[in-house]
Amino acid sequence: MPFAAADRPSLAAGLLAAAAEEAGFACDVKHFNLTLAKLVGRATYHHLSHELPATVLGCERVFREVLGGEGVTPREEYEREVLSDPVWGAGAASRRALDELRGVAPLFLGLAFGACDWSVYDVVGFTSTFEQTMPSLALAARIKAAHPGVTIVLGGANFEGEMGAPYLNRFPFVDFIATGESDIAFPALLRALEANTEAPPGFLHRGPVSPAARRPFVSLDTLPVPRFDAFYGALDATFPEERGRTWISVEASRGCWWGQVSHCTFCGLNGDGMAFRRKSAGRVLAETDALRERHGNLALAFADNILSMEAFRDLLPAWAARPEKTPKFFEIKSNLRRSQVLALRDAGVTSVQAGVESLSDSTLRVMRKGVSGAQNLALLRWLHEAGLESLWNVLYGFPHEEPASYAETLRLLRAIPHLPPPSAVAPIRMDRFSPNHSDSAAHGFANVKAMPAYRHVFPFDQAERERAATFFRYDHPGMRDALARGGELASEAARWRTAVAEKRAGELAVRPRFPSGTVLVDTRYTKTGTEGHERVRPLQSAELAMLLACDAPISPARAITRVVESAAGDAASAEAALERFVAGEVIARAGDLLVTLALLPLHLDRPPLGRAD
Ligand code: SF4
Repeated sequence: MPFAAADRPSLAAGLLAAAAEEAGFACDVKHFNLTLAKLVGRATYHHLSHELPATVLGCERVFREVLGGEGVTPREEYEREVLSDPVWGAGAASRRALDELRGVAPLFLGLAFGACDWSVYDVVGFTSTFEQTMPSLALAARIKAAHPGVTIVLGGANFEGEMGAPYLNRFPFVDFIATGESDIAFPALLRALEANTEAPPGFLHRGPVSPAARRPFVSLDTLPVPRFDAFYGALDATFPEERGRTWISVEASRGCWWGQVSHCTFCGLNGDGMAFRRKSAGRVLAETDALRERHGNLALAFADNILSMEAFRDLLPAWAARPEKTPKFFEIKSNLRRSQVLALRDAGVTSVQAGVESLSDSTLRVMRKGVSGAQNLALLRWLHEAGLESLWNVLYGFPHEEPASYAETLRLLRAIPHLPPPSAVAPIRMDRFSPNHSDSAAHGFANVKAMPAYRHVFPFDQAERERAATFFRYDHPGMRDALARGGELASEAARWRTAVAEKRAGELAVRPRFPSGTVLVDTRYTKTGTEGHERVRPLQSAELAMLLACDAPISPARAITRVVESAAGDAASAEAALERFVAGEVIARAGDLLVTLALLPLHLDRPPLGRAD
């Protein structure tokens, strides 16, 4: 259902359909997200599914209005209390997109309901992550009203653990709710329904509930290859011109190996499934080959929360050894070395979401990110040098964040306009399953409550809202200051994005000089016009050696020693170069470490390949 991304098939639906078929059940998959994208237009759909702030539950609200029933709050109240919230609300573009959605939502629901004869199905299942719940419930209500014999099953991240119970209580047309990973439980439920026996563990329902615990699925190699024929069939019928721009959804792992040892305080991604599990490299290769053979030579979007470090030993080299380079997307931990960035490139990885989140050491410590600001800066530069697209964010507003960290982050943001800007600079959102939520007082948060939007969407009482919500509002003593300081960071990023869009962000790079030597080109828009600024200047050997010495994060003393050891200059010239570069933000001082910000030509021999000193 909407608002799943329209540029790739649903991995959950594809996997469960394949599992049902393996168990001997015929299964159709419907991608009504494409129907809605057709009605509202791809651009508006993209805004609704990707840019609308999750905290306003805007799409859910529109479908609550369509579903109706008792207790729908007045729209003006929703707009005042939710959309107009200065921190968690939505801007004019989002309001326009929601108005457009409101105009087509009833028609859409009619089309989805009329798309097939629902009475031919014994079971209709809905998977819901982010804002798919109300569209699912609105359609499920119609199906059940017309065909009471159809069993309605809900599953997905919105019902994980205890979250599902209020939905079962309040929506009588829902029969079963999956409370976790359902690779085994879903086909088991189908068998139980067929045999008219008790439901298996892993579901909430109105019958006797099995006491057996839910467990995350472990043996990923035994999963079926997901079935995506329905998505590409629907895509060819609605947006045939988009076929070549879509992705194939795949997963090489589940859970998070970092979160197992140090759960990032803001992260609610994994729920009960934090334990890291991965497919073997051979299985990933075979599966992606099969999917590309079936659906075309499309890019691969890996849904993994974090790329396995073992992939650098088996999966990535295997891809690198192949002549064809299928574009790939991965989420990565940000303390990779340069050699690992090059391994990604060689394997055909073209786009990554890097877990940067901040450039300040103290804020990164508060988050338990296990990375330094200097490492984050080095990674962003290495990715850019290697030609990979990097998506990253800046989070702020943690109660225990040091005020000085904002000034440091602002300084560093202004120093790197030649790199890709962050997609978002935002106050920390409190998500269920994150340490910030589960242990909120210890992390300095107070007055934690389900976001007000839930009151305007779901017919739940306060206790049910607290049980079902994914997003929570909070307070803390330093919040007002944090929001003001964070606002400066967000404004800086907005200026940066505008400069990029207008192609005037500038560059900072070491370039070869004809007939020999190198120059430093510094046309960063944040620096031009500052006193003593030179746009292009030749580099002395000690200067070039210093830039290379600081390729990876390094201490000042060690950087000077490196330059002296390279015989490019003596200690005095190395120190002078360092002082000049730090003053001009060509080399950044981040915490106790230095790191070069200027793009370095790939052919230049840098001492150790990106190893932090
Ligand atoms: S933010 Fe990323 S690295 Fe941290 S626990 Fe979540 S998935 Fe793991």
